[in-house]
This record gives sequence, C-alpha cells and structure tokens, in this order.
Amino acid sequence: MTTVVAGSVGRGPTGRSLPRRSPAHWTVRAVLTAGAVAVVGMWWQDTTALSLGTFGASVTAAGRVAGLLAAYLVLVQLLLMARLPWFERSVGLDRLAAWHRGLGTNVVLLIGVHVLLIVVGYGLTVHRQPISEFWTIFTTYPDMWKATIGALLFFAVGISSARALRARLSYEAWYWLHVTAYLGVALAFFHQTASGADFVGHPFNKVLWTVFYLAVALSILVFRVAVPVGIAFLHRMEVERVVPEAPGVVSVWIAGRDLDDLAARPGQFLLWRFLTPGHILTAHPYSLSAPVRPDRLRITVKEAGDHSRGLAELKPGTRVLAEGPFGHFTAAAATRPGVLLIGGGSGIAPIRALAEGLADAGRNVTVVYRASRRADLALGQELRTFADAGRITMHWVVGTRRELGHDPLGSDKLAAAVPDLIRRDIFVCGPPGMTLAVLGTLHRLGVRRDQIHTEDFSLR
Ligand SMILES: Cc1cc2nc3c(=O)[nH]c(=O)nc-3n(C[C@H](O)[C@H](O)[C@H](O)COP(=O)(O)OP(=O)(O)OC[C@H]3O[C@@H](n4cnc5c(N)ncnc54)[C@H](O)[C@@H]3O)c2cc1C
Repeated sequence: MTTVVAGSVGRGPTGRSLPRRSPAHWTVRAVLTAGAVAVVGMWWQDTTALSLGTFGASVTAAGRVAGLLAAYLVLVQLLLMARLPWFERSVGLDRLAAWHRGLGTNVVLLIGVHVLLIVVGYGLTVHRQPISEFWTIFTTYPDMWKATIGALLFFAVGISSARALRARLSYEAWYWLHVTAYLGVALAFFHQTASGADFVGHPFNKVLWTVFYLAVALSILVFRVAVPVGIAFLHRMEVERVVPEAPGVVSVWIAGRDLDDLAARPGQFLLWRFLTPGHILTAHPYSLSAPVRPDRLRITVKEAGDHSRGLAELKPGTRVLAEGPFGHFTAAAATRPGVLLIGGGSGIAPIRALAEGLADAGRNVTVVYRASRRADLALGQELRTFADAGRITMHWVVGTRRELGHDPLGSDKLAAAVPDLIRRDIFVCGPPGMTLAVLGTLHRLGVRRDQIHTEDFSLR
C-alpha cells in the first residue's frame, strides 16, 4: 500500500543505535574497572602507613593516586576510540564514544587535583609556599616541563569539549585540538616513570606501565592507521559518481574490489575520508544507503556543514579511505517477522538500505517516510519501486504539521497506518525532533523498549 498524506519539506539527522547490554559489554566494563582497581592496588602497595606519617605526605599520596588514575583513564579513553573490533562489537561505537566523553571530565579533574595535591603536599613537607614549590618541581624534577605541556593540552581539550564551547567550534577545529591530546599523553608518560614514586625503584611496575602505554599506542596504529590503509589498498575504493537525490542531498557511489569482504550490513556506517583537498583531514560517518555489492557501495548525504556540502563536488576517481563498518542498527537487532522502518531527513539512508536487506531476507517490511516537502523525498523512487514490486509497504507522510493540521506521527495516525505495529520490530532514524516524537508515540502505544532500534547521527 502506498499512502501520500500531503505534499510539501524535511531536514536533518538523528536517533540511537546502542546495542543491548550483552554479556560481552559487561565483560568490557569489568576488564576496564579491574584495570582501575589494579592501579589503585599498585599505589596502595607502595603507600605504607609509615610513608603517611605527616599531613604533607598524606596529601602527596592522594596526589599520586589521582595522577595514576588520570593516566590510566586517559589510556582507557584512547583505547575506547582505538576502533578495537572486540570493543566495537561488544559495546558499539556510539556507546564507546559516550564513555570516552564521560571519562573526559573525570580525567581533566583528576589531572588538576593531581597537580594541586602534589605541589601542596611537597610544599607542606619542605615548608615551602605552593608557588615556589611548583617552580622548584618544574625546574628540578626530570621531564616536568613535558608533563606541564601535557597537562595544559588536556585542559585545552577539556575546555573545548565543554558543551557551550563545543557548539561554537567547527568539528574540524574541535577534532584537531582533540588530536593534540595524543601528544599530551606521550609527554606525560616521561615524568611518570622518571619521578613517580610507584615506578622509581619498582622495575616491575615500570615495565607493566610501559607495556600498557605501548599496547595502547600499537592498537591505535593498527586499527586507526594500518587497517584503513590496508582496506584502501585491498579494495581500491574510489568515487565512481555523485548523484543528486533531492535539494541538498547527494548519493556518492564508491567503486572498489571485493567490497563484500568488508562484511558491511545494511544499516551500518563507515568513517569516510576522501583523499582530496577539503576532505582529506577528517573522516566523517555516513551510513550505507544500499546493501553492499561486490564492486560498489553507496552513501547518501544531506548537507549539514562544509564537509557534507562539499561531497557534491567530489570528482570521479577520488581515492577513498574507510574505517568500519560500525553500528548495530541492523537486521540482527530484529527478532520479529514484521518490521516497521520510520525514516526522515538524512536518516532515510540507513532506512533505505535496511528496507532492501530485510525484504530480501523475507521479512514483512513497512516503511514510513516523513518529509515536510515532496521534493525532499530522497531515494523515494527506489522505495516506490520496491513497494510497486510488492516487496515492502510504503507510507509517505509529507507536509508540515501546520499544513496537515495534525501530527502525522502521533499515536492515532501511526496506529491507523500500521495497525500491527505493536507486533513489529521498529527502526527509527531521522532528525532529533522526529525521533523524539516517534519514541513518545511508540511509548504511548505500549511498544516495548526492546522492540525499538534507533540510530544517532552524532558521535561526540
Ligand atoms: C553513525 C552516523 C551515521 C551517519 N550517517 C549519515 C548519513 O547516512 N547521511 C548523512 O547525511 N549524514 C549522516 N551522518 C551525519 C554526518 O556524519 C554529519 O552530518 C556530517 O559529518 C557533518 O559534517 P559537516 O562538516 O558537513 O558539518 P559540520 O557543521 O562540521 O557538522 C555538523 C554536525 O555533524 C557532526 N559531525 C561533523 N563531523 C563529524 C564527524 N567527523 N564525526 C562525527 N560527527 C560529526 C557534529 O555533531 C556537528 O555538529 C551520520 C552520523 C553518524 C554519527
């Protein structure tokens, strides 16, 4: 069935694709928590009652554990973003990004507390004012200038990530400032092993700590550098053509070899880097908008800023680096024979790919496509062809609320359009407002949370 509700615009992305908390997810949490306990245990072992004899020594000891935990959590933050396949499969890139973000504030606070308590604790022990003690530490302790630069870089990254400032910075400026945190981590390492009470005279701790740093560095090099370069070399991906789909929306077809070996499923996304000026410096997440073919992939992108707008200008032959696939917004999340897909704005890209993939898998697929204007129905013709062939059922929900005089995704309208929705798995991807409204509707209709799968078009 094809229903056109009215005719007139739609914009934007959002949703949330966090995988359910699987046993593997809890294992990742347990491993990371055990690491933190081990770090505190290392400090505890070196902090005898005797060494806490004075108030100054106790303050210094508290400063030490704050520093150790800060260093550990920074390494965990890097690991979370190192694209480790096990982490991604168990937790999901979007939840990993959320953990990374959540730890950031704690890390910056712990670094501040570490510096403060060490300076005050040392000062109390030798009866020196904090400023004069800071200067003594800075000028006489090994590698302290490196640690100071490292700490300043962390503070800069922390401040730039504060919600109010982040919204004002371009993604590129925020990203490149973030990248300097890697330098901060490397610089901070030296003062830890050269002056840290838990490492000087403790060769075992020192070796373990160094191995942990090297393992994190290796993971980043392998999974963030070598693997994408390997994929580019193996699959030889390049832009084949760019096709306009709707005002401000283009599809980019990417040709390559053995692309099915990437094992990317409909609904997943990759981080794309186009090797041409204006695009080469950052990788952006875009979902596949069609199932993968051995020689071709497709993404469909709505302009949101400089990068997405620039995709319309890509020249055929432009080489492409891709990281991934990532994400759990896939058929694997659906356990029921019937599936309802609700898409709007750029969210239609993964919805379109899922529609074909699920129909091919023999599922009973209904798609609700929300747009404010008929002209904005990107990929509409393809969905119409599937519907005409009887592979899916389409509901076109077009027009602004004002034009329609009602909320077309409200409980009564949605339940009337898809009467059996309570028995379906429901996938939602669209602008944040649309996704929120749909989630409210589904909640009111009594749909269980575990039936609903959403994709969020924001990773930071
Ligand atoms: C999992 C996922 C899948 C996505 N799939 C699609 C899709 O299929 N089609 C589509 O049109 N859009 C998709 N997006 C959104 C798309 O990535 C952003 O619109 C695009 O990166 C904006 O970049 P810009 O430079 O054009 O705009 P900017 O103005 O620089 O950014 C606009 C907003 O997009 C986000 N963003 C920008 N760059 C990145 C980045 N490198 N990584 C993460 N977020 C970023 C930021 O929140 C930023 O505020 C997806 C996003 C995610 C997270």
